Parts: sequence; C-alpha cells; structure tokens
Amino acid sequence: MTSTFRVTLLGTGVPIPRPDRFGPATLIEAGEQTILIDAGRGATIRLFQLGVPIGSIDALFLTHFHSDHTVGIPDLWLTGWLSSYFAARRRPFHVIGPTGTSELMHHLGAAYSRDVEIRVEDEELPREHAAITTEEFDQDGIVYEAAGLRVIAFTVDHGAAIKPACGYRIEYDGRCAVISGDTRYNENVVKFAAGADLLIHEVAMAPPQLAEEAHIQRILNHHTSPREAGLVFARAKPRLAAYTHLVLLAGKDVAAPSIEDLLAETRETYAGPLVVGEDLVCFEIGDEVLVRRGPANIR
Ligand SMILES: [Zn+2]
Ligand SMILES: [Zn+2]
Repeated sequence: MTSTFRVTLLGTGVPIPRPDRFGPATLIEAGEQTILIDAGRGATIRLFQLGVPIGSIDALFLTHFHSDHTVGIPDLWLTGWLSSYFAARRRPFHVIGPTGTSELMHHLGAAYSRDVEIRVEDEELPREHAAITTEEFDQDGIVYEAAGLRVIAFTVDHGAAIKPACGYRIEYDGRCAVISGDTRYNENVVKFAAGADLLIHEVAMAPPQLAEEAHIQRILNHHTSPREAGLVFARAKPRLAAYTHLVLLAGKDVAAPSIEDLLAETRETYAGPLVVGEDLVCFEIGDEVLVRRGPANIR
C-alpha cells in the first residue's frame, strides 16, 4: 500500500460560470484509489490539466442534486470512455450517492443512448465500459471501501427543500479528509470532522448592502456564513481547514465580498490554520498537511 493521500480541489465555484472557479468537484487520490466528489462544470478540464486520465476515476460520489454539482457527469462518463490516453475507462462508470442517484443516472443513460450506440458501432468502443453502475444510501455510514480507502457519508442540512444532502469523510492510512458538501451550519459536520487532518467546508457571504434582499437571503439561508464556518473549524479542530464552494454574492452594481472580507469574518470565530481554496490547489496529507498551488501541482 502506498501512502499517497492527496486531495485536489478541481472546482471551487458555484453556478456562476466563472473561468477561474469551475463547478464543484474534488479529486481524492489515496494509494491505488482515485475518486471524485461531485462533478461540476469543467471537472474533466481540470483532470486533463493535472494529467489524471478521466477514465481512471474508480467512483464518483454525489453530495446532492443541485445541477452545478452534477452537470459535469455526462462529460466525465462519456469522455472518460473514449479510447484516447486522457480517458480510457476500462470498466463501467460507477456512481455512489444518496437516494435519487440511480434515477439521475438512469435518465442520463437514456439521454445519451444514441451517442453510445454510435460510438459502439463507429469506434468499436466496448459497450460494457459505457455501462453505468450505481449505489445509493439513505443513512449515515460507510458507503465505500477499497484498497485501504474508506468513505463515510453523513447527512448535512442544505435547507428543508433540498434533500437529500450529504458530506463525506474519507479515511486512508490512518488519516482523514472531510468534505462538508453544501450545508448550513450543521452539528453533523462537527461530529464527522472531529480531529480530521483536512476539513474542506463550503461558505457563503454577501455584501452588507445586499444582505436584506429576499433572493440573497434565500441563498444565504442554504449555506454557511464565514463566522459559522469558523465555529465549525474551531469545534472540529482539523489540522487544516479549507474553503471551497465559495458563494460570494454580488449585485449588478455591487461588488462581491473579497477574499480579505471572507477571511476577516472567519477570523472572528477561528484562529487556526486556514486555506481559501482555489481551483487546482492540492493538499498532500501525511505527517504534515502540505498545500501546493497552481503549476507546482501539475504532474
Ligand atoms: Zn447545493
Ligand atoms: Zn452548491
């Protein structure tokens, strides 16, 4: 068993189609296993930038069904099936998620069935490698175990109408990384992230001028404020805390809060180690949790 345990933020954005922050997707490389949490817009582009073959993903895990977390799935599935060096999946596409995962994948399968038929006939791609296998869960607990990697799902609170929604605790070689998924301040995150090596949490913030507007309120009510995220970090005490899924709201004529604003509010409740995620930032989890950004991380 190799001890490589690496977490890379492929996309740290939200539905905003920004070129610098792609849709939510987090890559985990743990020994022989390579998994992905969510497949937002552009996940395949980030994998390609890293030199990680799209077809090398052992399993995709879904946190919930908001489209910004799932629009990259057909790309991952079908581009990963191509015979080129950057793809080359030689087994079915495997997706694990809360109840609703099988329905989503069933319909995606139907939507793209012509493409599968065409490529089987024209390119002679193996049909069985375009097959989709799914596993669903409806309670907290272990949802995946392979080659020393263990994935534990836990329920989070993304709002009364946005169910199911979950986060994941990923354990490998005595270490652990936790991803909050989309959630409001939630005790279950504190519980499952207690003492984690790395806790990756979502966050949302609006400029004060917009904070009272109804649609802004509605968005903020589905997410965690920097002050609240700081409380989660202070209570869970990870070796390193990191932000992803940065919901930094703006108006037509009102600028979004800056990273400095985000940090300042977080520091009201948390004084420990903290990284504001950006696309392709990588965390190497070992005796220390090393942070690598940008080109240094391309391999
Ligand atoms: Zn969401
Ligand atoms: Zn989201």
